[in-house]
Amino acid sequence: MSELTVLASPSRYVQGKGALGALGTHLAALGDRPLIVADDTVWGLFSAQVTEALEAAQLPVVRVGFERFATPEAVDALVEVISADGHDVIVGLGGGSTIDAAKASGHLAGIRWASVPTAASSDAPTSALAVIYTAEGEFVEYRFFPRNPDLVLIDTQVVAEAPVRFLAAGIGDALATWLEARATRRGTASAMAGGRPTLAGTALAELSWDILWENALPALDAVSARVVTPALEAVVEANTLLSGLGFESGGLAAAHAIHNGLTAAPQTHGLTHGQKVNIGSLAQLVLEGAPTAEIEDFVVFTTRVGLPNTLTEIGLAPEDTAELRAIAEAATVEGETIHAMPFPVTAEDVLAALTALEGLSRRVRREHGLPEPERYTGGGH
Ligand SMILES: [Zn+2]
Repeated sequence: MSELTVLASPSRYVQGKGALGALGTHLAALGDRPLIVADDTVWGLFSAQVTEALEAAQLPVVRVGFERFATPEAVDALVEVISADGHDVIVGLGGGSTIDAAKASGHLAGIRWASVPTAASSDAPTSALAVIYTAEGEFVEYRFFPRNPDLVLIDTQVVAEAPVRFLAAGIGDALATWLEARATRRGTASAMAGGRPTLAGTALAELSWDILWENALPALDAVSARVVTPALEAVVEANTLLSGLGFESGGLAAAHAIHNGLTAAPQTHGLTHGQKVNIGSLAQLVLEGAPTAEIEDFVVFTTRVGLPNTLTEIGLAPEDTAELRAIAEAATVEGETIHAMPFPVTAEDVLAALTALEGLSRRVRREHGLPEPERYTGGGH
């Protein structure tokens, strides 16, 4: 285990209302034959803006489609397009899987890569790693790259026009960042960047948490109204940049390991990354024996944000012992980030924490006059 401290970050981060209009200028600094990866829905929405921005910078507009998950096959197919047509920079335009596929293929092909998220729905865009899934959406592996994206560009007007649940998911992903960085700091493990956390990495994770508690609810209001406000700008930076730097250089722990474990339960498959991470965050707080007030505040806040904090909301129940055990075992396999916790964690511990969530969250919600959880039935496809 390394005693060195490491901070990793993208070369350039660009955020703001209308940022997509500056995409050509920023890409022109990286190459002259960009390849845009975007699914049909995303391309339908943004092709006009992207085309105008690239043409203004005298760049050709070449786009390739993308299916649902960053599978090993999808990544290899992109590498073939890159080498066949001599592209020198790949741009992942859209959601987390599109961006991860662009990163993984850019790395394999040895060219530059850029992340252009169309929602602030996770902290993946800034990082030097990609999450690879099966075509059915099961977690396969993390792939680590020696470099971060050359460019991360996020247009807050685009974020404002995306569905509210995307921003809520990003908030769920970003809330975990401080909980996991704090646990990593207390323990002895390395962060994803390949060393012990720098003070900066830990501090950025905490800043992300503070910004979210202050701004998350008004930012969600802004997205409901499809407008950009200072609260939304702050949350987009917390979800994308601060959480990205904070998880990669501050450390992942139980929350993301439990998220990965949840992919073993088909009931949860239609849920977003951030929704599943939120279950992991609450389970981590329970595992840690965090102060009751902290746990209850987390339940209240995440209910208001619209994130799941009960098994019911992810299609499970405390009685689903077989599924919960499978999740707990997947979350505690050797090499999982749960072992960054500052104490040993077994599958039994995770099973107990997950089982406890239902009654705990239902009680806290009831005591605060918050709605009962609604059963999630969208999984399994
Ligand atoms: Zn995450």
